[in-house]
Amino acid sequence: MKKLSPSISRSEVLAWLLAPDDARLELLWHEADRVRGEHVGDEVHLRGLIELSNFCRRDCLYCGIRGSRKIERYRMSEEEVLECVHVAQRLEYGTVVLQSGEDSGLSSGMIARLVRRIKTDASLAVTLSLGERSPDELKEWRAAGADRYLLKHETSDPELFSHIHPHLNPLPSRERMLEEEPSPHRGEGRGEGPSPNNRVELLKYARALGYEVGSGVMVGIPGQTYESLATDILLFRDLDLDMIGCGPFVSHPDTPLGNPQSEMVGPQAQVPATDLMTTKVVALTRLVCPNANIPSTTALATVNRERGRELGLERGANVWMPNLTPPRYRALYEIYPGKAKVLDTAEEFHKNLLATLERIGRVPGKGPGGRRK
Ligand code: SAM
Repeated sequence: MKKLSPSISRSEVLAWLLAPDDARLELLWHEADRVRGEHVGDEVHLRGLIELSNFCRRDCLYCGIRGSRKIERYRMSEEEVLECVHVAQRLEYGTVVLQSGEDSGLSSGMIARLVRRIKTDASLAVTLSLGERSPDELKEWRAAGADRYLLKHETSDPELFSHIHPHLNPLPSRERMLEEEPSPHRGEGRGEGPSPNNRVELLKYARALGYEVGSGVMVGIPGQTYESLATDILLFRDLDLDMIGCGPFVSHPDTPLGNPQSEMVGPQAQVPATDLMTTKVVALTRLVCPNANIPSTTALATVNRERGRELGLERGANVWMPNLTPPRYRALYEIYPGKAKVLDTAEEFHKNLLATLERIGRVPGKGPGGRRK
């Protein structure tokens, strides 16, 4: 079989994205799986997801917990979070991911204390996914022991980004995104320039502080073209991300983007938010970023309940993020409807997870599962 290389060109990426669903795709699936095996092995790293708050001061057009929605809000206590951490420890997960809406009620000091307690009690790797927070907060949490920061930009198309994120700072041009890393000491002395003011700059700042950093996109956001999705995939390579999460957009009827998609075809047409398109993106991402940690996402398992998770793992992914949020809160963290298996307990889910891994010839990862360099 022909080999596909990490230096795959933009026109090849675009051609794969536009390729029909037929036997030719076997080459892409085969190559993504080969590169995954060669560079990150058969381990699937397990990251226990704890959705610690659904308060959000933002109003992203696609998201079910957007600030303007009248829904019941919750914020977990430190003790509740630590109970979930102990479940992760019992199930031998290497990492916990603390995720929330952009909640200013989660104080910097509380998160730092929580990170320190997780490190002392359980010595797990800690990933934070708390939205856009200040450089000082990122610094404080890194000093407390946080290992990774996850902040998806969702699309690198600046116009689409600004449309779906009406209250976020705009993304810079691709050229600006690739400029040098901001210094972690910036802002401490005199005349050292402004603080990071957009998602990509903030991630570079986090990297300079020593975090592993992750981003990603939603596949099939209304208004996303194949051209822009190809740019997203090549940008992952250019930004040299440690973690890359790509899931399908799942329309939430109570959000401004809860309407059906157009049916044009061609490079400027709407990208469909399907499992097939998402696994193409996962596979191409594996090709261009051979040693990145890439999850098979819950959104993918939601649009294809039978096989979505497996397909992701068989087409390039090497990370699984089981949900450890207590069921009473999980139902309220409804970023989109029908989040897969929302009512399973962590233990039930874990049993299924082990059976799935065995069926596809993969093994649970050991240890923190940082990026292999
Ligand atoms: N507030 C943090 C942030 O903005 O990075 C993290 C929480 S946010 C709810 C986590 C992720 O949920 C987003 O990065 C986005 O990809 C995903 N998400 C939200 N709404 C979605 C939807 N309708 N379909 C698919 N994914 C969605």
